[in-house]
Amino acid sequence: MRSWKSLLLLGVFISTAAVSNFVLGKKTDRSGQRLQRYFIEVPMRSPFDGRQLIGWLNRNGYDVAGSDWQAGTIEVITDQQGIDRLNQRGLRGSALQNFVGAGANAIDPRYLNPQKVEDLLKSLNARFPEFTRLERIGVSLQGRPIWALLISSTPRADDPRALEKPAIIFDGLHHAREIMTPEIVMDVAPTLLNGFKAGVPGARQALLNWNVWIVPMLNVDGNSIVWGEDAWWRKNARGAQSSIYGVDINRNYPFKWNSCGGSSGSSGAQDYRGESPGSEPETQALARLGQWVQPTASLSYHSYSELILYPYGCSSVLTGENALIEKIAEEMATLLPRDRGRGNYATGTPWQILYSVDGDSMSYMHAEFGALAYTFEVNQNFQPPYELREPTLQKHRKAWQYFLTRMDNNMLSIQVIDGKTGAPAVAALEFSNIPRTYGEKAFRTNAGGNHFKVLDPGRYNLRATLADGRRAEAVVEMNGRPQSLRVVVQ
Ligand SMILES: [Zn+2]
Repeated sequence: MRSWKSLLLLGVFISTAAVSNFVLGKKTDRSGQRLQRYFIEVPMRSPFDGRQLIGWLNRNGYDVAGSDWQAGTIEVITDQQGIDRLNQRGLRGSALQNFVGAGANAIDPRYLNPQKVEDLLKSLNARFPEFTRLERIGVSLQGRPIWALLISSTPRADDPRALEKPAIIFDGLHHAREIMTPEIVMDVAPTLLNGFKAGVPGARQALLNWNVWIVPMLNVDGNSIVWGEDAWWRKNARGAQSSIYGVDINRNYPFKWNSCGGSSGSSGAQDYRGESPGSEPETQALARLGQWVQPTASLSYHSYSELILYPYGCSSVLTGENALIEKIAEEMATLLPRDRGRGNYATGTPWQILYSVDGDSMSYMHAEFGALAYTFEVNQNFQPPYELREPTLQKHRKAWQYFLTRMDNNMLSIQVIDGKTGAPAVAALEFSNIPRTYGEKAFRTNAGGNHFKVLDPGRYNLRATLADGRRAEAVVEMNGRPQSLRVVVQ
């Protein structure tokens, strides 16, 4: 580990004079003073230095907005004090010339807000009652509903066939200002529903084979702050009305909460983890949906930086399925060219290409359910011109459609039967060749005795254990085609 001092050798300096022309924020501090904020681009000399620098910025309370590893820059939102502290450290950056204002009126009104999300989901549900189900999965601190829409050929909660299909969860807008992400997640619904009606094979396959859940806007309170008073708000609305400080809901999930320095315990910090694991209603809403549907896959959309992240968030830990997870990330990246500049989205764990995070949803979805879990960091800023929406949706549509088909072709559908009763059984499942590296739960069957696992070609030894300790073993050979396996436990 190089120390901060090595960064002093980079020979880059911030010019406050240049910066002062770019007054961006109008946030008020607790004493009622107006704080002016700036969007600053700090150069890094190499990815190694960049990670050190991001770590330092995080630890020192900077709001790290994003990074561009190709250009070698890190972008932070900070106030004059923050700039002074950078200067004292001998760091220089520059204000972003092309930045577009900071007030709510800087955001194109065509982007989704909480009300529009609700209206759209309700109208889709009304238009496609035979293929959708709308669920209120939680209520925010300020009383707004958090919605999830199920898209499936078997949408009814009491249809036993629903348990015979794997589930995928798409979520958007953990972070209030990441306004492209509800657009991408919402786009899943009309793409699949209209595609199904038009006989598009991929859409048909998705509705027949999957329970597709979309949660376009998790942080509904935060997003209304973005539209109302602070375009750069990130967290939820925790705190009294007059002094909202907010919790970073993507540091609040119970798995490895506050475990590796990947979040802050200070309520003013942008990555404040909250008072206790899973303390926030938004976190609880998505976790509850996970517990209902036991997802086989989870795609979470954030902005920005053009990355595909996979677990784990914590420093130097990979999952027991990393070979497959990494390969699929690289395959999806070939479908995701950058908005500007050469090349495609970069892939890696947060600690490899960004910084360590703990209490994040992606690590939770993998450790709790064995889901293939990815986080996309889309675009090159938080609030791109609306004209970029369609190209962004198009390329992400390609990536998630590819992902669904890729999983279909390599899916092992397991059903565990209790030999004594002949009935489907809830069982814990273990594969000898998928080690548990970080305290993950065992995979388990749903109420219909089913579990769905995406596996690379190869030979797998499976053990199923019932609640009373009876167990059975099976061997399965995967070959790039979907397979079913029935395991009877005597
Ligand atoms: Zn985010």
